[in-house]
Amino acid sequence: MDDVMTTIDQAAIAASLQEAKAGLSTARVEEILAKAGELKGLSAAEVAVLMEISDPELLAALFATARDIKDTIYGRRLVIFAPLYVSNLCANECVYCAFRARNAALARRALRHDEISAEVEALVAEGHKRVLLVAGEAYPREGFDFILDAIAAVYAVRRGSDAIRRVNVNVAPLDTEQFTRLKGAGIGTYQLFQETYHPEVYAQVHLAGRKRDYAWRLAAMDRAMAAGIDDVGIGVLFGLADWRFEILAMMQHIAHLERRWGVGPHTISVPRLEPANGSDLATHPPHAVDDIDFRKIVAILRLAVPYTGIIMSTRETPHIRRETFALGVSQISAGSRTNPGGYSSGEDEGQFSLGDHRSLDEVIADVASLGYVPSFCTACYRMGRTGQDFMDMAKPGAIKAHCDPNALVTFLEYLLDHASQTTRDVGEGLITRVLADSDPAIAARVGAMLEQVRAGKRDVLC
Ligand code: SAM
Ligand code: SF4
Repeated sequence: MDDVMTTIDQAAIAASLQEAKAGLSTARVEEILAKAGELKGLSAAEVAVLMEISDPELLAALFATARDIKDTIYGRRLVIFAPLYVSNLCANECVYCAFRARNAALARRALRHDEISAEVEALVAEGHKRVLLVAGEAYPREGFDFILDAIAAVYAVRRGSDAIRRVNVNVAPLDTEQFTRLKGAGIGTYQLFQETYHPEVYAQVHLAGRKRDYAWRLAAMDRAMAAGIDDVGIGVLFGLADWRFEILAMMQHIAHLERRWGVGPHTISVPRLEPANGSDLATHPPHAVDDIDFRKIVAILRLAVPYTGIIMSTRETPHIRRETFALGVSQISAGSRTNPGGYSSGEDEGQFSLGDHRSLDEVIADVASLGYVPSFCTACYRMGRTGQDFMDMAKPGAIKAHCDPNALVTFLEYLLDHASQTTRDVGEGLITRVLADSDPAIAARVGAMLEQVRAGKRDVLC
């Protein structure tokens, strides 16, 4: 069996980085970019070469390739979600996080069922359809059932025909039995960031609690897959260790999942360390990633794993978010609060500082004016298109026949039910332009779906 602990091979990473430095040339980069354009992904050695690029012309070529790939696979769609923090109780001591156990300055709170309902009502009223449920690693009296009850509470909220249609989850690593129960609760993606793949750095920044166990965390996705959760999301917290090491280690993790389970991660998140209440390290990241390298990271991931979604959170400023949409980002959070109860109370004292404080409506108007179609679609997982089935459709491009119409239909639902007049005007203009640019047969099919929405029908999906 392919053991995940032997997967992160530091010596191989060091060798790839050395070879890449020696092997960097315009011809080699052009060859790798041409291969990436075939949408079959890249090897770790090829990724290592791209990470060495600093010449402005080669960098421009890398970004142009990333834009082309994003355009071919994802078109103009950007999937929208909101995080839902249900608890900030935590027994771990991650030195970068405001929720860490020894941060006495933080008021602790685990939401009750009725408080979760109030949060979800606020999110649904704004127009959200998809949430990422987040919690610290310490549950109230009911233990892990707290998370299962929280998921049930989210799905139970109805506001007319509106509801949250997909709950993704970002909670501490579980055992296989708990993962089985999590799947039973009807989650979309299980998300977990390794934070850093570097074992020594990992030990330095995780000082107490279960999270000290690097191996338990690294093997979490194998346990999730074993329990039948085939949409998993991975990530690195950039700023803790050298980003080049992290990307190559992540490539090894992805290769392991593909070998062992036949499918890699559904999404990759790229959080950068942000200042957090009670954390010096978060304010002074030991390996801070600057904006140019950050854009490189997104572009290289787009080339390396073209069919894996890339998630950009509101940690980043509107400016960086806009720049990275073009380079490969496919999912964004919007209107986020990172404190339990933040949506119903309006308070904003969360897990870390946000870079984008705009409301959902403002973000939607902005991305639509840039020509992106905000998608509130949740069809794939509800129709069983997950894991390998999803990739089998995504790779020959068949998924686009679903995603493009579903994005427009759910966007129109948002515009009619939730948008301000300004946003509605921007959005209607975009829909008209997209239909005009589409193949006439597709435009006719989508036009008929949009008419159903205008006539009052909701959840019209294909
Ligand atoms: N407690 C669980 C865990 O640690 O996996 C799940 C949720 S934790 C609240 C979500 C993520 O927030 C962490 O995985 C970490 O990457 C990120 N995070 C923590 N502190 C941060 C900071 N100062 N800046 C940016 N992201 C941070
Ligand atoms: Fe707790 Fe997660 Fe924050 Fe670590 S990152 S202190 S585990 S909430």
